[in-house]
Amino acid sequence: MSSVVVTRGLVKQYGRVRAVDGIDLDVRTGDVYGFLGANGSGKTTTVRMLLGLVLPTRGEVELLGERMPRAGRRVLPRVGALIEGPAHHRHLSGAANLALLDAAGPGGSRRTRRRRVAEVLDQVGLGGVGRRKVGAYSLGMRQRLGLAGALLRRPELLVLDEPTNGLDPQGISEVRELLLDLHRGGTTVFLSSHLLAEVEQLCSRVGVLDRGRLVLQDEMAHLTAPTGATVVDTPAPERVRAVLDGRVLSADGGRVVVRGADPAEVNALLVGAGVPVRGLALQRPTLEEVVLAAAGTSADRVERA
Ligand code: ATP
Repeated sequence: MSSVVVTRGLVKQYGRVRAVDGIDLDVRTGDVYGFLGANGSGKTTTVRMLLGLVLPTRGEVELLGERMPRAGRRVLPRVGALIEGPAHHRHLSGAANLALLDAAGPGGSRRTRRRRVAEVLDQVGLGGVGRRKVGAYSLGMRQRLGLAGALLRRPELLVLDEPTNGLDPQGISEVRELLLDLHRGGTTVFLSSHLLAEVEQLCSRVGVLDRGRLVLQDEMAHLTAPTGATVVDTPAPERVRAVLDGRVLSADGGRVVVRGADPAEVNALLVGAGVPVRGLALQRPTLEEVVLAAAGTSADRVERA
């Protein structure tokens, strides 16, 4: 798999504050990459450096295989971006705002452009309100208009800074579906978030930023792979302990963790001994547990919900 975003030793220093402290990002073609970190951990500064909007103090950025910011004019047309609070003209309609954006892009007839604007408005669920003035849009609608703008040129890579900020649960799930849809269509997605659950539900790969440092970067499937233990849900934990002597790793009420990655084998032993079993599953760590282990106390500042 080729890499679409690579940084090497990326640093951004603001006076005494080291906002980004030597990070090596590696985002690969086909990833939905979640860039997770508490507020103030340096996500926005990193995203701005990726796009050439902020110059690094040190280190390198490669976007789609080319050095940024040098190759910006060649690379950026292939990248859709949405950064904190997209700026729109409030007195114009959503469609007119998008038409302005596209005017800055490569040619195409007016009709094709208008059709494309209508398509992306539909795609983000603003089809019915594209003609209304943006001043009358809710925060969520503006965020979706920002996404529509990022999609206009059918980018290979989407770079989104907190794309669900300000959205209600309905809006969040719509954006999630949209991103998964785009991903299925071949778009690589890089998104920053301070929400564990969002990254867990959406992303195939995750990087965790903690006070400017990348403390973890790996495939989600690898991070949350089975631990080699089985979780037994039972009304009789003491009897599980008696039957599986020595294999019980921990017990919390009716939830008993047993050594061994074969639930069927555990089940056979318990049922054979007449121990009631409500459920069995391979134990997997949650992303929250993994992040806590990697980032220590600051993971408390990453929001769970
Ligand atoms: P948030 O989600 O709150 O935007 P973040 O993870 O995106 O947080 P950044 O906005 O990148 O974090 O900020 C990281 C650190 O750098 C913070 O301490 C912030 O105060 C500082 N910082 C960011 N931009 C500047 C700037 N232009 N001048 C000085 N300090 C800055």
